[in-house]
Parts: sequence; structure tokens; C-alpha cells
Amino acid sequence: MSRKRTGRDFRELHIWIDEPKEELGIDHHSKRHFWSRSTEKEIVEYWNKKEDGIGKIAVEEWLFHIALDNLFILFKKVEYNNPMKEKTNFLSFGFPGGDFVYYEDGKHENEIMKRIFEIIKEGKKQ
Ligand SMILES: [Zn+2]
Repeated sequence: MSRKRTGRDFRELHIWIDEPKEELGIDHHSKRHFWSRSTEKEIVEYWNKKEDGIGKIAVEEWLFHIALDNLFILFKKVEYNNPMKEKTNFLSFGFPGGDFVYYEDGKHENEIMKRIFEIIKEGKKQ
């Protein structure tokens, strides 16, 4: 996804973001997974040393990573809290043929939710 968005895979960046996982498990989100001026500065400086001007793109990738992680946690919470019920204020996200995050904030019948996920899956395959 990073490569498609930026032309680079930023593998090193994503590994660095999730590195505290080995020590902290699920609580690794308490490190490097929220925006702060100091982490942004650290990323910009590190990546600009590799290639001048790439730091700001690395910051976008970092924010994209943590946004998706948090959306995923929300998604799981909503699912867990509403196992059999109609989903309300449901948040969906995906990449239907594009490289952006979108969400819908609303109420859908289960049949509509199923169709939304089918469309998202089809989009991911492209
Ligand atoms: Zn992560």
C-alpha cells in the first residue's frame, strides 16, 4: 500500500512503528502510535538523512499507519459490542480502487453492510 501511494514501501518505517510489539504485545500502541511533535521530528530527521525531502512523506506514512491501526481497533470493538445486532454508527474503511481511507458514519441494515464489504473486497483485489 505504501509503495502504491508513495513509490516506496517504507518497510523500515512500518517495522520501526510496530517494534515495541515484541516487548509490549497489544499495548505496543501506547508507543509510536499517536501523533506527537517529538515523534514527528524524529521521523523527519531520520528519513531526511536518507534522502533530502523524504521526511515529510515518511510522516504521512506514519500517520496513515496509526490511523488504520486505530480504525481497526474501533472496528473490532464495534463488532465485539454488537455481535448479533444491526450495526449502528458503523465505521467502514477500505481502498475501493483507490489509495485513500474513507469512512461512513451512519446506520445500515445488515444486507447493506454485507454489500459494502463485498465492494471493499472487490476494490482491494484491483
Ligand atoms: Zn501498528
